[in-house]
Amino acid sequence: MNYYSINKQAPNTSFKDAVIRGIAPDKGLYFPETITPLPKSFFDNIDELSYNDIAFEAIKQFVSPDIPENVLKDIIKETLSFNFPIEKLNKNISTLELFHGPTMAFKDVGARFMARCLGYFNKENTNQVTVLVATSGDTGGAVANGFLGVKGVNVIILYPSGKVSDIQEKQLTTLKKNITALEVNGTFDDCQDMVKQAFLDESLTSNMQLTSANSINVARWLPQMFYFFFAYKQLHKEHKDIVFSVPSGNFGNICAGMMAQQLGLPIAHFIASNNANNVVSDYLKTKKFSPKPSVKTISNAMDVGNPSNFVRIQELYKNNFETLKENLSGYSFNDKQTKEALKDIYNNYSYVADPHGAVGYLGCKAYLKNNPNTHCVFLETAHPTKFLDVVEDTIKENIDLPEQILKIMDKKKKAIKIDNYEDLKSVLLG
Ligand SMILES: *Cc1c(COP(=O)(O)O)cnc(C)c1O
Repeated sequence: MNYYSINKQAPNTSFKDAVIRGIAPDKGLYFPETITPLPKSFFDNIDELSYNDIAFEAIKQFVSPDIPENVLKDIIKETLSFNFPIEKLNKNISTLELFHGPTMAFKDVGARFMARCLGYFNKENTNQVTVLVATSGDTGGAVANGFLGVKGVNVIILYPSGKVSDIQEKQLTTLKKNITALEVNGTFDDCQDMVKQAFLDESLTSNMQLTSANSINVARWLPQMFYFFFAYKQLHKEHKDIVFSVPSGNFGNICAGMMAQQLGLPIAHFIASNNANNVVSDYLKTKKFSPKPSVKTISNAMDVGNPSNFVRIQELYKNNFETLKENLSGYSFNDKQTKEALKDIYNNYSYVADPHGAVGYLGCKAYLKNNPNTHCVFLETAHPTKFLDVVEDTIKENIDLPEQILKIMDKKKKAIKIDNYEDLKSVLLG
């Protein structure tokens, strides 16, 4: 498969090159040249297929021929070494739990898949690749864990000092080896700006191969299609009109769901569930896309004021507002509503959600009001212990720490403190 830049000012390129570059030379996001739906027989036989088989069929066309089929099978097997269960809340609402991976956020799948692709490409190549990534919390841990020990790849993670949870900080600062954590005296936006500046800095890019492990990278974005297939496999016998409510920040996850739909997966509708950062729900109301500075919420992984993958969604719908609107609804909820939802879910269904999942649940409830005959699946994108204080305070219960979290609690933090771009540059140039 070849990829083009959405900005259309850069040459088309292979999957391998798109992964190594992260972003096109004209700063556009890469997008596949074609999307060929899967055959009807695939959906007729889905009950007989394993999750690994499903993932293989779904992503094959996007990575071939750069990743040979036998290698792809191994990458998928290693990436998907945990479960993706559905929990039913009631006859209209289920949740798909995407937090059973090593860092307990859905980003594990994309990070692990991308790390293994880069590792494979680097086998035949003596150049080091440096993955540079800014995190507001969950990306850092997933990327650190996914890339740990991958040959030929160095990972540099920038995170804002004092603004990630203790557990999140442990997850990204205790692994060492090829992972370096930079504790930035500033905000997430400062971290992000420094990363962007580095990609544009020729004195760096002429010396080293820099790439991104955010969802702009196709190898991190596309594997997220798998979730929607896995949910369908578990639900399709019982439910016909399945809709997905996706707690969204940078809109990579929901856009991957729309790719799955293009492959023929019968999804009746999408719901973009946002916190107070409501650029997309506003767009669906007003037809105007107006990025704004992000505001801080209790679902912090969605505190994004200018969702980078929205251009991919517009590309999928050929910039046609009306067809997009038929397939996508958007709602925005504040922190008070999110806490009420955490309580509601706990009291009515004895289920402990995290603040991001709770926003997704609210999206389901809002949509079901006018569409009572659909079945709504909200994605549980992180385990509630990652947001322990808010969740425990809200539901007034203690929750048990899972094994993945206990394992890192008494590991020692190692981070380099930096103040500005010059500091970042001197770390990069070693
Ligand atoms: C990253 C993240 C999101 C948002 O996903 P996008 O693909 O950026 O829309 C939602 N929930 C959690 C827990 C996350 O870590």
